[in-house]
Amino acid sequence: MQVHFVLQGSRKAGNVHFDIAGRGLRSVVGLNIYNQEEVGKWIQSLIDEDRIHDFYVSSYWLNLRAEILEEDKNECQHCKKRGLYKKADTVHHVKHLRDYPILALSKTYIFQGKERRQLVSLCRQCHEAEHPDRIQKEKTEPLTEERW
Ligand SMILES: [Zn+2]
Ligand SMILES: [Zn+2]
Repeated sequence: MQVHFVLQGSRKAGNVHFDIAGRGLRSVVGLNIYNQEEVGKWIQSLIDEDRIHDFYVSSYWLNLRAEILEEDKNECQHCKKRGLYKKADTVHHVKHLRDYPILALSKTYIFQGKERRQLVSLCRQCHEAEHPDRIQKEKTEPLTEERW
């Protein structure tokens, strides 16, 4: 499979420091969130150090997440396709974070010449369906819905 990527980060986020609640001040000095390679390296280092939670509480992600939910009017996009209304409570990485760290902060990616959504608002049920491999793990080890 050949995948080409484009980065479309949050308009609000920038080249800034970020805070981690309850973990003291942390910052990514000089991280350019519009540079996929830099973002990928950051995410990979968090994965390697088992600190991916830091990503989910970073201002980069929280701003982008809020933007996606707003654009989707807080509606689950999978339910919407089936003509149902359900409130979204998570923003899912279509190309899973651990498989495609460079797409952590990208709204879209290009596949077979078409721009596709990388971040979609989902209800809990639809989100679980996207991560069938995690269900078993969740039972033994409680995870926040977005830690996937
Ligand atoms: Zn749904
Ligand atoms: Zn997900």
